Amino acid sequence: MSRPYVSVQLAARVRADAGHRCGYCRSDERITGSLLSIEHILPIVAGGLTERDNLWRSCRECNERKGAQLQATDPESGEVVTLYNPRTQRWRDHFRWSDDGLLIIGLTTIGRATVALLDLNRPHQIVARQRWVLVGWHPPDDE
Ligand SMILES: [Zn+2]
Repeated sequence: MSRPYVSVQLAARVRADAGHRCGYCRSDERITGSLLSIEHILPIVAGGLTERDNLWRSCRECNERKGAQLQATDPESGEVVTLYNPRTQRWRDHFRWSDDGLLIIGLTTIGRATVALLDLNRPHQIVARQRWVLVGWHPPDDE
């Protein structure tokens, strides 16, 4: 499927809304050097529109893992829930950093299901987070 056109103006508005960190794993493009993409929160195949309210920024890996999925299973309760929405929900209401700053811990059914589906604690991310912690760049202090 071809990607829908996102105008320069719309992309700028989404960047202003979302900032420099992935809406899910919170990786900062200014640290990773990999620009975040603009993702459809409600996937196009599910009727998601290319408009500001349905767009956010995410890293390639989170975006690919999310794909066209709308829901995931909370590994703790077994409940199937709608994935975390970075535009309408606050990250800190559903997730927290482990005390050492290396792991994202889901606090709610939505948080745990999203951590599991998107694999928000990928081994290479943990290695990177260890280095970011050492230099004081992580975890973000404004979650
Ligand atoms: Zn990410």
